[in-house]
Amino acid sequence: MVRKFFVGGNWKCNGTGEEVKKIVTTLNEAEVPSEDVVEVVVSPPFVFLPLVKSLLRSDFHVSAQNCWVRKGGAFTGEVSAEMLVNLGIPWVILGHSERRALLNESNEFVGDKVAYALSQGLKVIACVGETLEQRESGSTVAVVAAQTKAIADKVSNWENVVLAYEPVWAIGTGKVATPVQAQEVHVELRKWLHNNVGADVAASTRIIYGGSVNGANCKELATKPDVDGFLVGGASLKPEFIDIIKSAT
Ligand code: PGA
Repeated sequence: MVRKFFVGGNWKCNGTGEEVKKIVTTLNEAEVPSEDVVEVVVSPPFVFLPLVKSLLRSDFHVSAQNCWVRKGGAFTGEVSAEMLVNLGIPWVILGHSERRALLNESNEFVGDKVAYALSQGLKVIACVGETLEQRESGSTVAVVAAQTKAIADKVSNWENVVLAYEPVWAIGTGKVATPVQAQEVHVELRKWLHNNVGADVAASTRIIYGGSVNGANCKELATKPDVDGFLVGGASLKPEFIDIIKSAT
């Protein structure tokens, strides 16, 4: 089973219109492996989605960083999956640890969001990951399994899901998981999918790593057989994102 390498750039709550245009120009001018080899998806803040979509090269794709859990309506400040579809945005990141921690998004809420976004035709980058405390107490696998189960409880078709393993202690800290640590958890997640969802889903679902990935550490992480790509925060705003895309080959 060939799993196409996936590189996502999560721009988080960063950038002005001018800065966003500059990043897009850098991406548009980059020479990178073809779309058959690597799927590249960048995720600007909501307000810049139409701008980025209109300027970005056609072999790269755009993602939102969140969307509402059900059909839009009287939910002030929210953006619905229907709106993203209407704008022609194909992807959405859901369950990012910053939202889980800062906005109290529970496993069940994330599962509901993933299911609803998929039902509307969006593709989903679903994030899971343990805190430092959880890792140190030996509960990493139990934590990511519970997060994945909450998604699996609501989702039957995994075709449009990319699972992002993002240890919280590695996000924005400069403390990247070692390739061995990443591989270990990715294997456990794949095993979990195999035992609880099915062999085909386990073999075909891309499990990507996120947490302080940069131009210098991506190559070695990418050599691990169960690391099918990256979700990149800080480094996705910089030219080194191109090197991360190139780590696909
Ligand atoms: P980071 O963020 O690369 O800045 O650690 C990763 C993420 O939050 O997706």
